Amino acid sequence: MADRERLLKTLTDLIRIDSPTGEEDEIDREITKRLESLGFHVHHDGFKNIIATLPGQGEPLLLSAHMDTVEPGRGIKPVLDGDVLRSDGTTILGGDCKAGLSIVLEALTSVIESGSGHRPIEVAFTRAEEGGLVGVHHLDFQRLTAKTGVVFDGEGSVNRISVAGPSQNVITAHIRGRAAHAGVEPEKGLSAVIIAAEILTQLPLGRIDSETTANIGRVEGGLKRNIIPEEAFLDGEVRSRDNNKLDHYSSEFRRVFDEVGIRHPDAAISLDIRNTYRSYNVEASHPAVAVLCRALANIGMEPRLEATGGGSDANVFYENGIVALPVGIGVQSFHTTREIAVIPEVVQGAEMCEGVIRGV
Ligand SMILES: [Zn+2]
Repeated sequence: MADRERLLKTLTDLIRIDSPTGEEDEIDREITKRLESLGFHVHHDGFKNIIATLPGQGEPLLLSAHMDTVEPGRGIKPVLDGDVLRSDGTTILGGDCKAGLSIVLEALTSVIESGSGHRPIEVAFTRAEEGGLVGVHHLDFQRLTAKTGVVFDGEGSVNRISVAGPSQNVITAHIRGRAAHAGVEPEKGLSAVIIAAEILTQLPLGRIDSETTANIGRVEGGLKRNIIPEEAFLDGEVRSRDNNKLDHYSSEFRRVFDEVGIRHPDAAISLDIRNTYRSYNVEASHPAVAVLCRALANIGMEPRLEATGGGSDANVFYENGIVALPVGIGVQSFHTTREIAVIPEVVQGAEMCEGVIRGV
């Protein structure tokens, strides 16, 4: 049985180890030590993702979470307030994804200590997930044999299973106009910022439909108050769970950039559209869903099968032939200083994970 106090201690211990994206070495050492003491063979691939294996009986199972956090995530001071763990308000909590790591470690500890049988386990703890699924893109998939698994990296309670997720195209654009002194000879300038604004007002943005979204998340441009801005930069994305819509809205973006470009022949506009991950959609009858439903039923919970607008390592596992679905880890308000972990829900996560490991 998952042990609440031991799980809470693991969670707070891991939260106290800073691991912003790109600085995962220390948490990696701690987790490697814990996995080795559980009897795992721990390997690091070329990107220093953890791939750990433990023999067992039956179908191999992949358990995954990521080791990095977003900022502000340094010197986090976890505060327990009843059943809720929060930060002191100046940082994130780092429950995303320390709760996921802790759930997997607690479930493994509980099953291994009990001496009961379990499936062959393959653990993949990735780096740089928050940097845009960078670690999993470099994961050494040759080392994995599991065809199904679980990614412990979702918001809310563990019965929330993301059975469908979107594709993402990243959109970046550089606009070059012409600098000129804003007071002396503004007529000689061509403002890249105004061209960017013209583009922005015409792009389809926000929620486009139930499975499609688009955003320009960063706009930069100009140098000084008294210079007509020569350069502007846009950084955005289009997502859809329907790849035809992804292609359609990506070409709409291209059309808007082209049309504005034609109106400003003296400007140089370069647009880059790049796919970062592909969508997935798994039937409720799929064995990867069925095993989660059985493990949830075993602890008296009803599954909630959901379609998400978020991308995760699960997208890249799917592209590589592994159906590993994201589930909730008992954490809310990811990526904010209001982030909290609801401890009874984190414990349920470990209980569900135990069922999957045992193969109930
Ligand atoms: Zn996460």
